[in-house]
Amino acid sequence: MTERGPVAGPGTSDGAAGVPPADARTAQLRERLAAVRQRIDGAVADAGRQGNPPQLVVVTKFHPAADVRRLSALGITDVGENRDQEASDKAARLQDLDLRWHFIGQLQSNKAKSVVKYAHAVHSVDRLQLALALAKAMAAERERTGRPPLQCFIQVSLDDDADGHRGGALPADVPELAERLAGTADLRLAGVMAVAPLGVAPAAAFEKLAAISARLTALHPGATGISAGMSQDLEAAIRFGATHLRIGSDILGPRPALR
Ligand SMILES: *Cc1c(COP(=O)(O)O)cnc(C)c1O
Repeated sequence: MTERGPVAGPGTSDGAAGVPPADARTAQLRERLAAVRQRIDGAVADAGRQGNPPQLVVVTKFHPAADVRRLSALGITDVGENRDQEASDKAARLQDLDLRWHFIGQLQSNKAKSVVKYAHAVHSVDRLQLALALAKAMAAERERTGRPPLQCFIQVSLDDDADGHRGGALPADVPELAERLAGTADLRLAGVMAVAPLGVAPAAAFEKLAAISARLTALHPGATGISAGMSQDLEAAIRFGATHLRIGSDILGPRPALR
């Protein structure tokens, strides 16, 4: 695989031999992780959620498998990726680690078969056709490996003009999609996910997501997950009930701009 990671810092080589115990990159990741954890702890305390802190998912897209290995050594258990090819490649190389892989990007139905081979969760289920493809792929994968059900978050668009440039189902379409996921043996309806729209105060966006989540759990009491909060807006997400934070650049550093 060609690494598309940003400029290699000290110690970012991705050798098969693994990671030296205390390289400079590990020290940097440890430091940034501690700073992010401190922000999370502060927001959790402010929200009075000490008994119910969110799960940190470290988004490792564009960064090499060696960084994921370093994060695992630092105690990280959950990592997020947004492209199937990159994710499946890393998951294959890191099979010896105890990691849960979260797929967080737009997903084409024809990638479902690949994703269910490594993913613990898909945070970006946004249409019925994808739910059906995941169900079919999971049935085959469970038959083959006996793997547990796939956790599925419904990605919701919080854009008022619904042009969907950050992806997601319209709030009005959530109930039908939820019913489909909840009625499929190999899928688990975990809850909702959203990305705060550009140009909107994150708090307003996450308040809206919390209301969508409340309507969902009224119908599906087990679907309490709220995947929300990135590097820029994790505090607002925690305030409005995020159960899963997806944090990339504040831990791993900047990624090259894509588009
Ligand atoms: C990249 C990405 C993240 C992480 O964003 P950062 O700003 O780097 O923390 C979270 N969620 C999704 C859907 C992403 O694509």
